[in-house]
Amino acid sequence: MNQNLKPAVLLPAFAATDDRPVTLGVLGGGQLGLMFVHVAQQMGYRTAVLDPDPNSPAGLVSHHHLLANYDDVQALASMARLCDAVTTEFENVPAESLRILAKSNPVAPQADAVAVAQDRLIEKAHFQASALRMSDAEAVGPVPYAALVQAEDLPGIDPGLFPAILKTARMGYDGKGQIQVADIASLPAAWASLNQVPCVIEKRLSLVAECSVVVARGRDGTVVNLPLQLNTHVGGILARTEVFEGNLDAGLTARAIQAATAIATDLGYIGVLCVEFFVVKGANDTLSLVVNEMAPRPHNSGHYSIEACDLSQFELQVRAMTGLPLTPPRLHSPAVMLNLLGDIWLNTGELRTPAWDQVLALPGTHLHLYGKLEARAGRKMGHLTVTADTIEGAREVAEEVQAVLGIWH
Ligand code: ADP
Ligand code: MG
Repeated sequence: MNQNLKPAVLLPAFAATDDRPVTLGVLGGGQLGLMFVHVAQQMGYRTAVLDPDPNSPAGLVSHHHLLANYDDVQALASMARLCDAVTTEFENVPAESLRILAKSNPVAPQADAVAVAQDRLIEKAHFQASALRMSDAEAVGPVPYAALVQAEDLPGIDPGLFPAILKTARMGYDGKGQIQVADIASLPAAWASLNQVPCVIEKRLSLVAECSVVVARGRDGTVVNLPLQLNTHVGGILARTEVFEGNLDAGLTARAIQAATAIATDLGYIGVLCVEFFVVKGANDTLSLVVNEMAPRPHNSGHYSIEACDLSQFELQVRAMTGLPLTPPRLHSPAVMLNLLGDIWLNTGELRTPAWDQVLALPGTHLHLYGKLEARAGRKMGHLTVTADTIEGAREVAEEVQAVLGIWH
């Protein structure tokens, strides 16, 4: 099947052509792959996971698990044979692997879009271009930044960017590959400590809040979005997400959704995309938005949609890659999502099983543990979503959960 031929919708049924069930493939077997596989299977699809880890959460529950590296040509050929469509859950999957698969399979998101998200410099240029296409009142540009790719770039860097954050252009996640830089004089040493790989140097903004928008775009150009997520990060890692009607000023919310939609549309994107924003104070103390980064896949801040919306980000991923209709998701319960990091297994000084029975005795708690075999500080082991009639009710329960688990933030 060639992507250019715009294949028919892949209905979850037996394929007429080769008498095997329609199979959806995912590159990466982490928790995002696991939740994708759960939904794909619920909808009647077979699944295939490519991940070199024999204990990968998604690999363990998939119909097929190809145990190989993401650039293994033979494994990619097997994947292409097995699957009717392929997606990714792993942001740093080689774009070339997606290109190889796209020769024989519909691949969503496309390699070119994933390649943009993999490089902060290319990503920021895309944000800038998207902002320029919008009217001044709607434009949401990137954080002020400069490129630091070679030593010759150093003298041209604007001292007005400091205090700043130096970020590697590629392979950063959960705050990794980032260094705070107080002033321009400290920049060469900071860059040296990152081995002088290509970087962006970003102005450190004083954040009023952080938020994100998950959009899904279909092959026909339809774009739908989840309600805006209000996020709290601790140590560069997402700690908590709150979603409820009015969680951010209505004008800013509309602008964030518009900007995320424009970013996806300008990329010709197919699939689920999450765009992260900072809320900052502008002139006259008015609040405004800047765009931070995007993830070409479902996102940690969208996990609440499994229980709190009538259409989750993972079902949107299945629908987008198979050409099924995308309908607007509706939030039916206010929600608080807490990330469960490895620290809560370790925070008494010895490895212990958290008191899940006490957590689940609280109303509206939805526990997700990803089945990872080793708890490490900062490692995402699971998450917990609290739903309630009101956000106050959800917050109260979340506070009790935090007390049981010893999450102090
Ligand atoms: P990652 O890819 O690790 O998620 P981010 O660029 O999103 O990297 O940075 C992680 C977190 O660090 C952000 O969510 C925010 O809390 C903080 N941060 C990043 N860049 C800035 C900035 N320019 N100004 C202020 N805070 C920032
Ligand atoms: Mg981020």
